[in-house]
Parts: sequence; structure tokens; C-alpha cells
Amino acid sequence: MDNPIIKEITPQTDIVLAEVRGERERQEAKWGQQNRRPHIYSIILNEEVGEVNKAICEWYFGDADATLQNLKDIRSELIQVAAVAVAMVESMDRNEFN
Ligand SMILES: [Mg+2]
Repeated sequence: MDNPIIKEITPQTDIVLAEVRGERERQEAKWGQQNRRPHIYSIILNEEVGEVNKAICEWYFGDADATLQNLKDIRSELIQVAAVAVAMVESMDRNEFN
């Protein structure tokens, strides 16, 4: 790739994407293949976004001693959001574009 910004972020991006893949694999093991219409998957995705916002509220308004754990919770919820977004794209590819 010729974009210097992409070159700079690639090592960290690879690490994060590997975590997203791991979460995606956990979802698949737990729920199996999910084929949902986009409006239903949007509800699921937004439920996960809500969990990010809940974790942010707990970090911002919560006990200062719990800050590090709160930040870990926010990060973990963001990985789940990304994994659900991937699952939604996979479902759309299987069901909406065939
Ligand atoms: Mg979540």
C-alpha cells in the first residue's frame, strides 16, 4: 500500500483485528451461524454499542480505583461491536446479495 498512514497503523491494526477475529470465533462457537435481516442485526449491533456506552459511563462517573478495569471493559466491548459488525456483513453477504 502506498498510503503512509496505513503503513504506520498496520502493526497495531493487525493486533486489534486478530482480537476481533477471536471474538468472532467465540460468537460463532456460542451462537452458530446467524442469518438475520439487516434491521434485526442493526438492533443486535446497537445493543453492543449500548454496552460500550454503559462501560464509558461507569468509567467516567465511577470509582477512581476501578478506572483501569473500566478502560479494559470499554475496550472489550468495542471488540465485541467490531465482531458483531463483521458478523452482520457476513450475514448480508450470504443472504442479501445472493
Ligand atoms: Mg458487549
